[in-house]
Amino acid sequence: MSANASHLLAEVQGEIAKACTIARREPSEVTLIAISKTHDADAIAPLLDAGHRVFGENRVQEAQGKWPQLKQRYEGVELHLVGQLQSNKADDAVALFDCIHSLDRPSLVKALAKAMEKAGRRIPCFIQVNIGDEEQKGGCAIADVPALVEQAREADIPLAGLMCVPPLGIEPAPFFALLDKLARDDGLTGLSMGMSGDYPTAIMLGATHVRVGTALFGERG
Ligand SMILES: *Cc1c(COP(=O)(O)O)cnc(C)c1O
Repeated sequence: MSANASHLLAEVQGEIAKACTIARREPSEVTLIAISKTHDADAIAPLLDAGHRVFGENRVQEAQGKWPQLKQRYEGVELHLVGQLQSNKADDAVALFDCIHSLDRPSLVKALAKAMEKAGRRIPCFIQVNIGDEEQKGGCAIADVPALVEQAREADIPLAGLMCVPPLGIEPAPFFALLDKLARDDGLTGLSMGMSGDYPTAIMLGATHVRVGTALFGERG
């Protein structure tokens, strides 16, 4: 199990390095977020044992069930929230996570600003963009990005950049390129994009944070 986890980690790190070489970037410019949703502490521990420290979850409640204990066992864990966030969970999210990738509406800007104020802790947030303009997908509409960036800045929320999940089943590169352009337009440098199926492409198009689950943990049950 442990040998397998470190093998998969090395493999993904190798792919990141390869994509960086092609793009003439440094691997240190790309943060690998191991998405551990649905996996229990026993499945996560081998990656921590292998030295990895940056993880992502998509549900606040699920993360609360496993990460406080893991954070006690391992020093230096950095936890990212990559799933939709309800405003009434903002306090919990700010308490547990070190970065939020799903800021997508004005009401959440308000809730997070209040939660950060209360906690005395400001954590960086990515604005999630509905980059393929999909009906039921989370994320802020492309046209609304500048206004949301403005609101987040006024609320003193540290902005890390933009995040997207492109539409399934079609070439993601144009969507990654569009996210990069939108970020530049608003003076943002971070790009959270790329998952197991497309993170090398995302890196070649400027990703600073890739969110990789399946390639590190295997298929989710
Ligand atoms: C699950 C998830 C990932 C990881 O997906 P894989 O295809 O398993 O790598 C990345 N980003 C978000 C927002 C997710 O929900």
